[in-house]
Amino acid sequence: MVEAAHCMLCRIVRGVLRVDSVVNTARIIGFVTQHEPYARGHCVFFPKRHAISLHDMNDEDLAEILPVIKRVATALDLKTYNIILPNNGALAGQTVFHAHVHLIPKWTEADGLRRAGEPPAGIDQTGIAQRIRERLRII
Ligand SMILES: [Zn+2]
Repeated sequence: MVEAAHCMLCRIVRGVLRVDSVVNTARIIGFVTQHEPYARGHCVFFPKRHAISLHDMNDEDLAEILPVIKRVATALDLKTYNIILPNNGALAGQTVFHAHVHLIPKWTEADGLRRAGEPPAGIDQTGIAQRIRERLRII
């Protein structure tokens, strides 16, 4: 587990790492990423409170982050874009272990995110809806 003291995004919160921020509220920072941007205007948003994954984020941070992203998408006059919610866990592709959300504009066919693959065949969904409903009653 990454400690908040060594977390890259927490270092931004503490002002140790400088970024080109576009939003800085009491809860959320958003910045234009210089690290492997997929398109012009690719931004990253994250809660100031260290949270590794989405399920570690508090509900107040979660409630604020999407409206903030909506405002930035509107400011950019975006009509086509991807919002990538956290990759949660290394197996899911998480490499920065502080929950964050990407806003990736799609200006042209060549910009932005491109679909990497097709969903695998043969996924068994039997019984999972019932399991989720049962778990939701106790958490
Ligand atoms: Zn952190």
